[in-house]
Amino acid sequence: MLARRLPGLLPPLRFDEALTVTTIHSVAGVLPSDAGLLTERPFRAPHHTCSQIALIGGGAIPRPGELSLAHHGVLFLDELPEFTRHTLETLRQPLELRQVHIARAARTATFPAAAMLVAAMNPCPCGLAGDPHRQCRCDAGSVERYRRRLSAPLLDRFDLRLDIPSVPWADLENAQLEAEPSLAVRARVIAARDRQWTRQGRLNADLAGADLRALCAPDTLDARAVLRRAVERWHLSVRGVGRVLRVARTIADLGGSGGVTADHLAEALQFRRPDGDPAAYENG
Ligand SMILES: [Zn+2]
Repeated sequence: MLARRLPGLLPPLRFDEALTVTTIHSVAGVLPSDAGLLTERPFRAPHHTCSQIALIGGGAIPRPGELSLAHHGVLFLDELPEFTRHTLETLRQPLELRQVHIARAARTATFPAAAMLVAAMNPCPCGLAGDPHRQCRCDAGSVERYRRRLSAPLLDRFDLRLDIPSVPWADLENAQLEAEPSLAVRARVIAARDRQWTRQGRLNADLAGADLRALCAPDTLDARAVLRRAVERWHLSVRGVGRVLRVARTIADLGGSGGVTADHLAEALQFRRPDGDPAAYENG
């Protein structure tokens, strides 16, 4: 339900983006014949039984998969560990490159794949681990096997990872009354993205390598110390550090801050907290 709301928090598609999204849907053969230009950001939520070709794209005549159909929008994978490991692993490179390259004997094709990937999983096979009101009946071995279905390098590609405890209905209703309206959140998102376009001519999500380190570098000695301690304690990989810097830069942008401070970094690091083995997620 949360993931489905995400496209509504993003700015409307620009005309060139709408053209690309419409073209991809047309090439994939999923555009109704009477449809005009698609103007809504796509939200795709394929079932975990979907094949690798359906998810990534492919076929004798290469067609875009769900990842490309979600270009400029959101790809939501519910029950992430239920997808086959092989299917999930083939996501890694396209997520990094933000495009899918399909090579067949007869022809090759490249489809754009700049989607926001959102995934959800249970804490254990029965879903009750950590629930204060009900008892989880999974043994340690099955919990471990369930979590191990996701490789460390795949997990490393998620910028934000968080536990969402189950919430009693009454609390949920209260939270909805107090929550910031979607329109206000969307205005902040649009302002943050405008800042990124003005500063560097692209979104933070599209920064990589030396640009990423230069444009998202922490501004103060305090902030650099926070990062150094995290790198030492959690054995963050180079990619992991890059992702923390990018999230910190985005948090600063959302707050309208010119520089990346220790507070921004500390908040970004909360979303990368390794659970259990500190090195477990950082060897990709
Ligand atoms: Zn359980």
